[in-house]
Amino acid sequence: MELRPQIPAGALTDKWERHRAEIRLVNPANKLKHHIIVVGSGLAGASAAASLAELGYDVSCFCFQDSPRRAHSIAAQGGINAAKNYQNDGDSVFRLFYDTVKGGDFRSREANVYRLAQISVDIIDQCVAQGVPFAREYGGLLANRSFGGVQVSRTFYARGQTGQQLLLGAYQALSRQIAAGKVRMYPRTELLDVVVIDGRARGIVTRSLVDGTLATHTADAVVLATGGYANVYYLSTNAKGCNVTAIWRAHKRGAAFANPCFTQIHPTCIPATGAHQSKLTLMSESLRNDGRIWVPSQRGDQRSPDQIPESERDYYLERLYPSFGNLAPRDIASRRAKEVCDEGRGVGPGGHGVYLDFRDAIRRLGRPVIAERYGNLFEMYQRITGEDPYVVPMRIYPAPHYTMGGLWVDYNLMSTVEGLYAIGEANFSDHGANRLGASALMQGLADGYFVLPYTIGDYLAQAKLPKVDAGHAAARQTETEVAERTRRLLLVNGRRSVDTFHRELGRLMWDRCGMSRNAAGLKEAIQRICVLREEFWQDVYVGGRGEDLNQSLEHAGRVADFFEFAELMCHDALEREESCGCHFREEYQTPEGEAKRDDARFSHVAAWEFTGVGKAPVLHREPLAFEAVHLSQRSYK
Ligand SMILES: Cc1cc2nc3c(=O)[nH]c(=O)nc-3n(C[C@H](O)[C@H](O)[C@H](O)COP(=O)(O)OP(=O)(O)OC[C@H]3O[C@@H](n4cnc5c(N)ncnc54)[C@H](O)[C@@H]3O)c2cc1C
Repeated sequence: MELRPQIPAGALTDKWERHRAEIRLVNPANKLKHHIIVVGSGLAGASAAASLAELGYDVSCFCFQDSPRRAHSIAAQGGINAAKNYQNDGDSVFRLFYDTVKGGDFRSREANVYRLAQISVDIIDQCVAQGVPFAREYGGLLANRSFGGVQVSRTFYARGQTGQQLLLGAYQALSRQIAAGKVRMYPRTELLDVVVIDGRARGIVTRSLVDGTLATHTADAVVLATGGYANVYYLSTNAKGCNVTAIWRAHKRGAAFANPCFTQIHPTCIPATGAHQSKLTLMSESLRNDGRIWVPSQRGDQRSPDQIPESERDYYLERLYPSFGNLAPRDIASRRAKEVCDEGRGVGPGGHGVYLDFRDAIRRLGRPVIAERYGNLFEMYQRITGEDPYVVPMRIYPAPHYTMGGLWVDYNLMSTVEGLYAIGEANFSDHGANRLGASALMQGLADGYFVLPYTIGDYLAQAKLPKVDAGHAAARQTETEVAERTRRLLLVNGRRSVDTFHRELGRLMWDRCGMSRNAAGLKEAIQRICVLREEFWQDVYVGGRGEDLNQSLEHAGRVADFFEFAELMCHDALEREESCGCHFREEYQTPEGEAKRDDARFSHVAAWEFTGVGKAPVLHREPLAFEAVHLSQRSYK
């Protein structure tokens, strides 16, 4: 396996423009002849499928939900970044680029991040043209707020429903193409494998979630826009359906998996309340614009928050990071929350919580302003906890939320398998070791609306692609293997439910490969995962039939993949003997408890090659060169 990042030559500021000018084009008549498969209809997939069809390609789009509109992107709350500098507060393309590289603790590719910052401004125009109702200032300009790790206001938002509004925009564009016959939409259809012929991705094998039918779809290129894998932890802020299956199966067919251990634990989630829970709820980072985070100064202080005087409160982020205060980046804010709770100063049941307090903001701005900014989030919090956050501070605690790791892709978003692309959260590309808030929507839409439509044409224009169909021997073999795996899952007929296995795996990953990690814990986790995986294949009970709607079977397939993938995550975390961003190895920290990078040994992307289940994966390194930014110890003080 060879990693060829394909970063264009020239100055950082000119790379994308020059690349676009030099890229090969497919003429309009030929576009009609190319069939492209897009798996996923979230912001990345829907924007890509709509844009490719608009260009004239013949597109098939797949998702496992009953409608593209139900993709997990709909859950995104807080906003989307863009370097428009409407606030005139010092923002620029370079500053967005710099904040993102620094926020990612210098573990991302400069060229990709710069392109992302450049494109960010176009995304807002595109979405406004589609009618996305971004919040506006009194004078009519689009409004902005701040997110963590930055000192400007560049986040565009639609109350706490930004993802939903953006997805409606992308979905309208997609629907237009479906109606025009340019996109064939396959809802309730799950990708279970990728068909690789002569080293190129030429199709996928799917299972209908309605009646269990397996089918092979062939194409000239395959795009995976299948989202992130935070559900490896079982409890996360992701929708229950989010999984690693598509990119894991692609990995098993030759696509390198990059930085799998870079998983974001978000600081502001409603604390877990017990083993009965199947999901955690995010309280958007936007709340940190006006909410102040604190815990009692004394351990074990049981008084209600209104009884704790100002002098006995520790606004620990404001104390430790005076320049950024409550808007410290997620990885840092999460670790500090864990630290104060581990010290015995946590609040709420079990002491796993810190306060997010709006008292001062309400006094300063008045309740109506706070309601206008965050009303739906406050309502959600109250419905879940039974507490009124206008009166009592919210309680929050970190939870798994986003995955920076994903399929390795080059500058063109192509994986190590030719013709196989990964976009959105499914790839590893732009966020390094820690994503800044409001940058996932930006990246997914940049990939789908603006990058892929160019770069895929470059591939199609020059690739020699003989006609293939579902009868091809490789396609038939892949379909047989999928059928066999499904049959095996049903045959086990053991005693334990899929969910209990998933829960146990998730707990193990949270304890050993979660907010902080160490070598001994990771080694133990690798052993334990292998044992658990064996038990799963000996003792899982799926029930029902393959030729039917069978949600237990769907879940079982995804959990089986999580078991294989979790081992890779731990290998990656073990191999990276440094702390960077979200990856906090307890052995490598500064005296102040901050992440201590080792640039000499680890300034690279770790891209793993699959060698077999339970076999040691092979590591390939893509060195990271920094020309425009200086590597420095990240500081938010
Ligand atoms: C609660 C929450 C709030 C967030 N808020 C923000 C925010 O304010 N700003 C921000 O920038 N980011 C936010 N994020 C992150 C952001 O929402 C996601 O990273 C982003 O929406 C992912 O988009 P996507 O298109 O890559 O994937 P998704 O939206 O997850 O879509 C994945 C698609 O792939 C399909 N799929 C997956 N596997 C298969 C398969 N095997 N076969 C067929 N189809 C498959 C699914 O059906 C779906 O259509 C938030 C995340 C969460 C959890």
